[in-house]
Amino acid sequence: MSQSLVLTGAALLGLLLGSFGQVVVHRLPRMMERQWAREARDWLAEVEASAPPPQDSAPYNLARPGSHCPACGHQLPWYEMIPVLSYLFLRGRCSACGQAIGWRSPLLELAVAGLCVACVWRWGLQVQALAWAGVGFVLLILACIDWDTQLLPDSLTLPLIWSGLIATAVGWTGLDLQASLWGAVVGYLLLWGVHQMFLAVTGRQGMGQGDFKLLAALGAWLGWPALLPLVLIASVSGLVLGVLLRVSGRLQPGEPLPFGPALAVAGGFLMFWPERFDAWLWF
Ligand SMILES: [Zn+2]
Repeated sequence: MSQSLVLTGAALLGLLLGSFGQVVVHRLPRMMERQWAREARDWLAEVEASAPPPQDSAPYNLARPGSHCPACGHQLPWYEMIPVLSYLFLRGRCSACGQAIGWRSPLLELAVAGLCVACVWRWGLQVQALAWAGVGFVLLILACIDWDTQLLPDSLTLPLIWSGLIATAVGWTGLDLQASLWGAVVGYLLLWGVHQMFLAVTGRQGMGQGDFKLLAALGAWLGWPALLPLVLIASVSGLVLGVLLRVSGRLQPGEPLPFGPALAVAGGFLMFWPERFDAWLWF
């Protein structure tokens, strides 16, 4: 198979995966909210028998209901769900009500396509390319969800930790298991420590538990020597992002900046350039 054919295949696959990514980004936080509401309601029902019955018994998960316009409920036919092309064809608007479709959806599809191409380019048609494309995909989804909701779902961060350890054990990351294990442990404790100090000094929550788990996952995939460059790159990109948002008026003073997207950016960077660890460690 020629190289360009393989890369085109990777791009097409990436577009489809990106399309699914948009569904995850949109629905996973809402699925979590529903789960919490259900648990709270069950608990209330136990406390007082007169608790109101559940309102939202219709299934809501990644597969159901089918894709629809959030404004008018218009069910999307297959030709309105083609990655990027449908967005262009519809000129970014719902065909039924004209509500603008966010630019996030086509952008995410293109980003995942770029990711798949880059992974096949870097690792060839190897299982490593698949593994790292998976890591990059989950990082993109986590960055979007954290940006929107300040949540980093356990259902994504925890599997990313385990899979990192397993990927090392079967030889996909090129690390020894010690580096991977201590990457996860120290990654978690590092941000937990920063969090505790911040809490002691300011009395405020500086970051969420999800951030500890995300750095633990990156530590598992990239090894403990990557932790210092990860935190440095994440801090710098988080700071730049924060300044830009403040200047543009999108971030109010005192509002927390989601650290997850910055960690994801740092992880994505080091995923493709691990040999730069050594250079960083000289500082
Ligand atoms: Zn609509």
